[in-house]
Amino acid sequence: MSGKECFEILNKIFQPIHKQNTKEIKGYTIKYGHIIENKEIIDEVLVSYFKEPKSYTTENMCEINSHGGIVVVKKILEICLKNGARLAEPGEFTKRAFLNGRIDLLQAESVIDIINAKSERESKAGIKQLEGAVSKKIGEIKQKILDVMVNIEVAIDYPEYDVDDVTNEQILDMLVKVEDELLRLEKSFDNGKLIREGIKTAIIGKPNAGKSSLLNTILKEERAIVTEYEGTTRDTIEEFANINGIPLQLIDTAGIRQTKDEVEKIGIARSREIAKEADLVIAIFDSTRDLTSEDMEILDLIKGKQSIILLNKMDLGSVLTLTDKRLQDVSENIIKISALKDTGIDELYQKITDLFNLDKINLDTEVVITNVRHRDLIVKATENVKKAKETVKNKMPIDIIAIFIKAILEDLGKITGETVSENIINEIFSKFCLGK
Ligand code: GDP
Repeated sequence: MSGKECFEILNKIFQPIHKQNTKEIKGYTIKYGHIIENKEIIDEVLVSYFKEPKSYTTENMCEINSHGGIVVVKKILEICLKNGARLAEPGEFTKRAFLNGRIDLLQAESVIDIINAKSERESKAGIKQLEGAVSKKIGEIKQKILDVMVNIEVAIDYPEYDVDDVTNEQILDMLVKVEDELLRLEKSFDNGKLIREGIKTAIIGKPNAGKSSLLNTILKEERAIVTEYEGTTRDTIEEFANINGIPLQLIDTAGIRQTKDEVEKIGIARSREIAKEADLVIAIFDSTRDLTSEDMEILDLIKGKQSIILLNKMDLGSVLTLTDKRLQDVSENIIKISALKDTGIDELYQKITDLFNLDKINLDTEVVITNVRHRDLIVKATENVKKAKETVKNKMPIDIIAIFIKAILEDLGKITGETVSENIINEIFSKFCLGK
């Protein structure tokens, strides 16, 4: 519970073993006792006290730790509600922390990212954002603008001083720097996207080429399987593995072959669809046999895509070679592996790492944007920077230039939540789960 009356409500329902006036209980204290209703003990609990302003929401807060189990928890919740509490809206605790000024909007949104993180890197990016790394960066950019804005205001307010020329140069210099930083942030979103959503990877190949074996080998090694669920496209399985901390969303098309009357027929149309959506296509071939017409169709699918060709079953000796022209024509990345004997798999990981510059994504030093809303606002701010630059170059009156510069500040303010509308705030917090 959080809010003015939370201790009052608590006192009605909680009987600590060692009674103490709530006023005397210090923040960050845990007390042991019972939740009571009509003099009957409902459960034995521990209650944590947080005193304003040192709490998640900055308000008085308490947390009741009961024994697990749905019945008891529900009962305690009911008792709280009967005694004057109300259910929190989704994300309301975090929303209060934001409205009370403890964190900015950007930090509040990172809480969702941390909760939904699928990989260690993703949660790390979320934590950095919660700590305020992105807010700090945005703050620095804003400060650069404000420093110059002061001079502009002076020029507008005291036209008798001839500061225009100096200011114009200064403004342009500042705008170029700001544009540079905004573009860098925008670019970091691509990295952020990889971190957040993973590399969508399709494994395609003829029946018996070794798709399932490869998938098993990857998943066995990378013990960090996060989820396993039916793919969005039917008959596919999607799973997550971690390569260098980046989630790889593997789409296995093995299911395609399952229909009995189509045993030796690959669902080319389906594969084409999956390959089209993927960031990376891994085409796997049985290297003990020469390419068939179906294999050629598969090769056709990966033309122009980010792809890796795997020549599987190298342990059996191979007919296909790395220098095969038909393969080289469609992909630069050809690797010999044995899915069964687990050889060549490290080389595959290294290839993926290289292809997506995974090594270069350094979350310890880089500020990464992971949120579409933030990216869109950065793009908007950049457009306004461009417009401002134009007005300066065209020697427009300083008050016109000021309008565009204020627009940039406003865009940036929307990211941290200073200038954002209530509707947007409500929308953002509605994405939270209950109790956060
Ligand atoms: P899929 O139909 O593409 O999913 O192929 P599977 O993974 O089911 O493999 C088909 C057959 O080839 C199975 O009997 C595997 O054990 C075998 N196989 C897969 N990879 C290798 C490999 O690298 N070496 C050898 N010797 N056999 C393999």
